[in-house]
Amino acid sequence: MVLMPSSGAGHVIPFLKVAGALARQNCRVTLITSHPLVSKAESAVITRFLTLYPQVTEKKFHLLHLPPNHSSSFTDPFFRQWELIHLSLPRLSDVLESLSPPADALLSDITLMSSTISVTESLNLPNYVLYTTSARMFAFFAYYPALSDALSNSVDDDDELLEIPGLEGLPKSSVPPMLQDTTSPFATMLRANSDCIKKFDGFLMNTFDALEGRTLSALKSGKIVDGMPPIFDFLFPPWEPEEVMKGGRATAWKRWLDEQPPASVVYVSFGSRTPLSREQTLEVAKGLISCHYPFMWVAKGSVVDKEDGVSLQQVLGEDLARQMEEKGVVVKDWVDQLDIIGHKSVGGFVTHCGWSSIVEASSYGVPMLGWPQIGDQRITGVAMAECGVGILGGKWGWNGEFVVKGEEIGMHIREMMENQKLRSRAAEVMEDINKVVAPGGVCDRTLKHFLNKFKS
Ligand code: UDP
Ligand code: UDP
Repeated sequence: MVLMPSSGAGHVIPFLKVAGALARQNCRVTLITSHPLVSKAESAVITRFLTLYPQVTEKKFHLLHLPPNHSSSFTDPFFRQWELIHLSLPRLSDVLESLSPPADALLSDITLMSSTISVTESLNLPNYVLYTTSARMFAFFAYYPALSDALSNSVDDDDELLEIPGLEGLPKSSVPPMLQDTTSPFATMLRANSDCIKKFDGFLMNTFDALEGRTLSALKSGKIVDGMPPIFDFLFPPWEPEEVMKGGRATAWKRWLDEQPPASVVYVSFGSRTPLSREQTLEVAKGLISCHYPFMWVAKGSVVDKEDGVSLQQVLGEDLARQMEEKGVVVKDWVDQLDIIGHKSVGGFVTHCGWSSIVEASSYGVPMLGWPQIGDQRITGVAMAECGVGILGGKWGWNGEFVVKGEEIGMHIREMMENQKLRSRAAEVMEDINKVVAPGGVCDRTLKHFLNKFKS
């Protein structure tokens, strides 16, 4: 199996989870990594993964050097990296053809679908997509060409519902602005990918019935796209051995977490992509102080970790930074999120609704307060709320811009921590997850079913 993620931790980490699961099934795995990588965090996790799985072969895919006058359609460094990989993909044939023994299949990233399919078609190689976000987002993505008119003709009414067959209406306000504008470069790329869905051999998705049953059955029944290729839904398992996750890494914040009462700590992270605006960062700090729970906040200060030189004290000011230190822990570096989410003292998660984060928290029964920032996050937030493992607070802004006052944030956090119905639903979903991920359970069987396709 050859796996090729595009850029960003939210893409690379799920690929590593599946690569680890395949390697543990004694499958020969090649991981194609694009160089230069866009962030330090990505390169650190890939290095650690390859140390733990020496049987996995890394193939470095060297990206084109674009002329200095090349004008990109994107400003976001992760999108630019995607664009560069996309432009370099004609070189992928050589990499695939050089493999010995030859590849049985490519597992492609969603953002690269339209460009990998032309390569694999010419080599007659099966191509599966490893989908890194929710089935809800996939349903929207698959139906996007049919929504084009509804998106471009509609009056500006955020409460309007977009109809996707077999699903609850999707509020138009959950569609990111770059996809509401059906002519934007991102919309053009997504539409090209959506148009070639039926050319793929199947889709591997990090979800399962208890999280997104209705959406999965609408997708599998062909209600959304007639002739939908097979969908293999199984929860992508952590790739690190349990001993490493359970106490292997001693850090100051881990010792602090160890000292807190069970289920008392509010964990806050807005993911690996978007930093909050300075004003919104200040309000989050105020909200955390006012909620009266201990907290652990992984605060991101820049778009890409390479350029993060600002200290939190510079953002918060000395006074607020000192108050924060007294009541909780604020970390600015990359942390291994599973170390936190799986810790017994964590009782709630304020999340940007990245799908991996939602699945990780659901696996540990940690209730969530969703605060979507960009891209698919409002749509995955809808999936989280529909499943009942989290609540969506008030009206949040796009892209980390300042919208919500500290007082309101504190109120939503208290609701998340004190809502017993939410906590018991989260515990119920965790139990369901424990069953499906147990050895020999549904997830194992689905993965084996997928691999059986390649046994001669
Ligand atoms: N993550 C992490 N440490 C961080 C931030 C993120 O380990 O400081 C991991 C997180 O556990 C998840 C992935 O990075 O597996 C982020 O994916 P997600 O889909 O949640 O969000 P994204 O960052 O792509 O928006
Ligand atoms: N996406 C999609 N189809 C595409 C391209 C992107 O469904 O053709 C999804 C992608 O998986 C991601 C979301 O749209 O979850 C937003 O993409 P972006 O790269 O902004 O998000 P990221 O995953 O890096 O947070």
